[in-house]
Amino acid sequence: MKDTTKPETAVRVRFAPSPTGFLHVGNVRTALFNWLFARHNRGTFLLRIEDTDAERSELRFERQLLEDLRWLGLDWNEGIETGGDCGPYRQSERYTVYQEFAGRLLDEGRAFPCFCTEEELDAVRRAQLERNETPRYSGKCRNLSRQEAAARRESGEPSTLRLRVRPGTVGFTDLVFGRVDIETAQISDPILLRSDGSPTYNFCCVVDDLLMKISHVIRGEGHLSNAHRQILIYEALGAALPQFAHLSTILGPDGQKLSKRHGATSVREFRVQGYLPEALGNYLALLGWSPSEDGKELMSLDEIAAEFNLTRIQKSPATFDCRKLDWMNRNYINRAGDGVLADLSRDFFVQAGLIPPDADSRILDWLRRVIALIKTRVDHLDQLPAEAAVVYGPDPDAPPLDEEAAQILGTPEGKAVAAEFVRLVDAGPGMTPESYREMVSKVKEATRQKGRTLFHSIRAALTGRGSGPDLETLISLYEEGSRLPLPRKVLSCRQRLHAVLDRI
Ligand code: GLU
Repeated sequence: MKDTTKPETAVRVRFAPSPTGFLHVGNVRTALFNWLFARHNRGTFLLRIEDTDAERSELRFERQLLEDLRWLGLDWNEGIETGGDCGPYRQSERYTVYQEFAGRLLDEGRAFPCFCTEEELDAVRRAQLERNETPRYSGKCRNLSRQEAAARRESGEPSTLRLRVRPGTVGFTDLVFGRVDIETAQISDPILLRSDGSPTYNFCCVVDDLLMKISHVIRGEGHLSNAHRQILIYEALGAALPQFAHLSTILGPDGQKLSKRHGATSVREFRVQGYLPEALGNYLALLGWSPSEDGKELMSLDEIAAEFNLTRIQKSPATFDCRKLDWMNRNYINRAGDGVLADLSRDFFVQAGLIPPDADSRILDWLRRVIALIKTRVDHLDQLPAEAAVVYGPDPDAPPLDEEAAQILGTPEGKAVAAEFVRLVDAGPGMTPESYREMVSKVKEATRQKGRTLFHSIRAALTGRGSGPDLETLISLYEEGSRLPLPRKVLSCRQRLHAVLDRI
C-alpha cells in the first residue's frame, strides 16, 4: 500500500557543466540520465553553468554545450536561457549569494580565515609526503582567536576561508554505489573562498543545489569524493541533503578511461561525423543502464524515459564500444525517412564538392534518391559521399574496374556482352529503365548469354564493379545526374561505358 504519511517530493535534478571544453561522452551521459530521471518522474531538469574557473571557462563552449544538448533533444525546464525562479543560473553571476553564505558560516564560527601562504602550504605538503603521510591541511589557522583573525583580515593580510571540519565520520548512501562512509580526519578543512574572494566548486555547488532545491544529484563517479566535503558544508549550513547517485566511469575498449586516444569522444565530433541524435542518445542511455526486458536495445528516448530508474544503473564501469554505436546508427539511418536523411546529409555532399551549396529542388530530389540507394552501406553519414562514387563518374585515381568486374569482362563471353551492350547504347537515343530492359533482351538474343554472365557483364561495364546497388535505379540516376548542373560531373550511361571500357 502507498505510504501516505510521506509527501511525494518533487524531483528536481540538474546538469551542471563547466564550459571549459566540448561536451564529451561522460558528461553528456550524465546530462541524459538526469533528463531521463526527470522525465520519468515528471520532475524538473535544470541546467546550471559552473563557470567559476574564469580562466578556462569560455562563452563559445557554453554556446556549443547548449547546442549539443538541444541537438540530442535534451531540453531543460529551468536554467540558462529558459529562466526560472532560482536564477541566475550561471555561477559567475551568483557571487553575492556565495559571499552571503560565506559570511554566515564565518559569523557562526563554522568557517575560519586561513592566512597560510601558498609557499607555507607547499612546504607542509612536501614534509608530509616525505613522511609518507597523505597531504592535508595542518590546521594551523583553525584556532586563531576571532579577534586576531579579524585584525589580520582588516590589516589587509590575504586569507582564504576554510570550512571547520568536525571530527567523526561522514557518509551517505549513494543510490548507485551504496554506503560510503569516511573519517573526516581524512579531509582537510576545505577552502570555500580563495584569497581573491572567489568561491570554490564544492561551496558553489552546495549553495546552488540548496537554493535550487535539487532533490537528486546525479553526476560522474569522479565527484564521489567531493560528496563528503559537500555533505559537511550542508551540515554547516544546517540544510537537508539531496540524494546522491554517482555514475561509473566510462572506459575505452582497452579498459582505460575513455579519452581522445580512443577516437571521437565529444558530441560535436559525433555530430560532424554524421551520427544521428536518436542513435547517440539511445546508445548513451544504455551505457551503464539497461531496461528490464533483456536484449531490448533500440529504443527512443521517450521509451527509455518511461522505464528509466536509478536502481538499474550499474556500478561497474561501462565500456564505450564504437562498433555498437555504429550498429545502432546504421539502424537509425535505415529507419529514417529518405527526405530526413537527405536534409541531414546535404552538407556532407556540399563539403565533398558533389552538389552546389545552392542546390535547387531538382538536384535535391536527385540527391535524395542517390542517398536512398546507398544508405544501407554506411555507419555514419559522412561516409555517404564516398559511397556516392557509384553514381559519380569513375574516379580517375581509382582503378577503372574492381577485381570482380575485371574478371567478368576478361572472359570472351563477358567481352561479347559488353561490346554488344555498348553498341546498342551508342545507337540508341539515351537510356531509361524501359530501354535498358529492351537492350538486355537484345543482347541476350545476339550473344546467347543469360543469367549471371549476362547481367554481371552489363553491370561491370556500366559501373566498373562486380556488385552494387540496384542497376535500374543506378541507370536513371546516371542519366538524370548527367543533365544536372553538378560541380562534379555525373556521366551518362553512354559516357560511363566508354570511360570504363576505354580503360581496360
Ligand atoms: N561542474 C562540475 C563538472 O562539470 C559538476 C559537478 C556536479 O555535478 O556537481 O564536473
